[in-house]
Amino acid sequence: MSMKLKTVNFPKMNIVTKVDEWLEVRHHLKDQSIGFVATMGHLHAGHMSLCNKAKKENEIVVVSIYVNPTQFNNEDDFTFYPRTKEADLAKLNRCGVDYVFIPETRALYPDDYHIQITEIEMAQALEGVLRPGHFTGMLTVVLKLLNLIQPACAYFGEKDYQQLLLIKKMAEALFLSTEIIACPTIRALNGLALSSRNSRLTSLELKRAPHFHRLLKSDQPIESIITELKQLGFKVDYIVEKWGRRLGAVWLGEVRLIDNVAL
Ligand code: AMP
Repeated sequence: MSMKLKTVNFPKMNIVTKVDEWLEVRHHLKDQSIGFVATMGHLHAGHMSLCNKAKKENEIVVVSIYVNPTQFNNEDDFTFYPRTKEADLAKLNRCGVDYVFIPETRALYPDDYHIQITEIEMAQALEGVLRPGHFTGMLTVVLKLLNLIQPACAYFGEKDYQQLLLIKKMAEALFLSTEIIACPTIRALNGLALSSRNSRLTSLELKRAPHFHRLLKSDQPIESIITELKQLGFKVDYIVEKWGRRLGAVWLGEVRLIDNVAL
């Protein structure tokens, strides 16, 4: 069965694009423990740290690559989201990932997105206010993926802290059998949190971007952090302390960056 899913370039890794095909694969995997990593592609060392952890802790690793349209509240962000499938597959292959699931929107949303998962408390803060509909789109697609993949463990980054808390809350509220595992934020040496969107920064913006994390983790009060960020040319959406973290969202030119540190 799985042989026909393997390609010449990646003889050990299976690439599955059809939901039906995946369900057949899943049936054959039976009770082997599956570690799952959901991504939107343009993979970097942050994503790969999740994959490596999944590889260590499970018999089978499944990674999805899907730029989910329902979680984008900004059309340009969706249009210009970097898509680098071949490079991504090469990285996943090197990591020893067993299955890459690359579903099509039509197959993932047979209901035309009429069924939605909405959290009504935590999702009303921070990112939920600034990106209306984002968390509903995200939770809906994560639930679909967890139901399809049926993993023992699913790995999510602390980089997207509010997202991580919401997924944990959903898993608990809906009695999902998957264990949600939090993974630390992977950063460049200069402190900048790795993100697929960083590749849209100009070289000048890339030089400025590390100040965001430097200030976020400093012991200055929030007001002076905001003032300094503005002086450095950032547009600040928020810097707040919540859920035991200091969280921030800023713009550098056309690119929105988020980050957080433990308090
Ligand atoms: P994305 O492709 O942006 O949807 O991210 C897929 C997963 O990778 C999410 O669980 C993210 O939180 C996680 N992730 C993204 N960037 C990082 C990073 N720098 N360090 C750790 N995890 C990350």
